[in-house]
Amino acid sequence: MPNAFFARRTGALRATVIALVAAVALLAACSPQQDANAPAVQAAATSPTAQAKLSIDTEFYRKQLEAVSSDEMAGRGPGALGEKRFVPYLVQQLKELGLQPGRNGQYTQAVPMVETVGEISAPMTLSNSQGSTALKHLEDYVAGSRKLAAEVKIEDADMVFVGYGVVAPEAQWNDYEGIDVKGKVVVMLINDPGFHQNDATLFKGKAMTYYGRWTYKYEEAARQGAVGALIVHDDAGAAYGWDVVKNSFSGPSFDLESIAQANPVPIQGWLSESATRKLLSNNDIDLELIRAEAGKPGFRARPLKDKLSVAVSNRVRRGSSDNVLGVLPGTTRANELIIYTAHWDHLGQSFGLPDGIYNGAVDNGTGIAGLLELARAHTAAGPRERSIMFLFVTLEESGLLGSRYYAENPLYPLRDTVAVVNLDAMFVLGPTSDMMVVGYGNSELEPLFKSALKTQGRAMRPEAKPENGSFYRSDHFNFAKVGVPALYPKSGITLLQGGAEAGLAKSDAYTRNDYHKPSDQISPEWDFAGIGPDLEAVGGMTQALANSEAWPNWYQDSEFRALRDQQRPASSDAK
Ligand SMILES: [Zn+2]
Repeated sequence: MPNAFFARRTGALRATVIALVAAVALLAACSPQQDANAPAVQAAATSPTAQAKLSIDTEFYRKQLEAVSSDEMAGRGPGALGEKRFVPYLVQQLKELGLQPGRNGQYTQAVPMVETVGEISAPMTLSNSQGSTALKHLEDYVAGSRKLAAEVKIEDADMVFVGYGVVAPEAQWNDYEGIDVKGKVVVMLINDPGFHQNDATLFKGKAMTYYGRWTYKYEEAARQGAVGALIVHDDAGAAYGWDVVKNSFSGPSFDLESIAQANPVPIQGWLSESATRKLLSNNDIDLELIRAEAGKPGFRARPLKDKLSVAVSNRVRRGSSDNVLGVLPGTTRANELIIYTAHWDHLGQSFGLPDGIYNGAVDNGTGIAGLLELARAHTAAGPRERSIMFLFVTLEESGLLGSRYYAENPLYPLRDTVAVVNLDAMFVLGPTSDMMVVGYGNSELEPLFKSALKTQGRAMRPEAKPENGSFYRSDHFNFAKVGVPALYPKSGITLLQGGAEAGLAKSDAYTRNDYHKPSDQISPEWDFAGIGPDLEAVGGMTQALANSEAWPNWYQDSEFRALRDQQRPASSDAK
């Protein structure tokens, strides 16, 4: 499942994409159209090999899913018992399937990580002329620090409400305009102005942009020099409940060393809606009114009269976790590579609960089992011209860290990486007449996928809930950020039995009841009949691409296009 939100567990996604948006707008205006390879993409989509189906073994898939989400795997916690048990199991499966190690001669890529266990050493306190109030940890707020210091402290810092905390030059939007927040604590709303306003002309309307993600908000607060950044939670805006936020701030958190050294905002956290209401009412501000105001152009940040104190102590330990990978070498163009990604990690176990094992059957046992079955099916389908890599990344739940590490330290040149296809949290609800694309409308991989679905008489549709910002919440995003065209297909929603209404109801029920909870386990109610067609469509597309000369690109208006054009100048695609 798209990694929800893990402030302390997470790696901040760098703001390169934001900078890119502006850069791309400029470049797109002056670069020639580079659609020379569009006919090749079209040909790949309609060629006989595109129709060649992979034969999917649902039983193999189900057995793998059972194994990877069993209690034995201890919740697949990185750097923990879960990793000790799961990684050797996975490597063994890859060997048995006949996959080759990577160019480093290994089935793993070590990802150096920093593990931090944080504690609130002085509770968050608000003070003003009337006195001071201690907020209740986990009920009113969560807070942590990604600085690798033993203690990080804020004392009587000024506070400023900065609306959505967004600086988007291309949208002429700057919530920090005219205000200096250096040394202060900023309080801001989750999501972006278009969301709560439900205004299609603002940002992307209901669909979340990267500006709406908490990762962006902390990054921007750091750039502005704030010492603390607190995000105001609301269920709809965040797309998950307060419980998810709370869980994310419990237990150890992970980072890449590079992120910890990149000067993150010293204290980051969230405020519950009710705590925010109290804080704002002390300042004669109504949360609903200011939310409406913050969603309109021209909003100005408001200093608050309260001062904030809090201290966090950190125990820091350096370690390492593994990305796991296996390669099916191509015949004639083995240097050209298609990468499947699926994160193998999940939340581990929390002791003290009766069943504290986060089995992560949907998230992301389904993706792991999917890649293993695809590896089996591609092998059975015989040789293909291009290579296919099966990359099981770690630390996704901690903020897409394993995929970020790979994208920054690729084993094969990114310019030779044709495409990335990501599987994360497939639903096992039964056969559907459609499949979804998360981040729909981004790349030329979509017509390929559409064509594969068409041979099955099925439709491709945009994700059901673009407001959840799922495109920014799984591993393909790190490849997009470095230019590689990436597709994130998801199970469909229109069930052959019950239609879209039933499909949506079931997926909503999962998000509400099981997402990031120990209850994310295989249930007897699951219907595996949809898995075959889904993997057949995804694998069919990949198989076609592996036998073609096409280099699908991002669409012209995608924020990732300029990077790919730099990486692969048009002439290099002429074949
Ligand atoms: Zn997850």
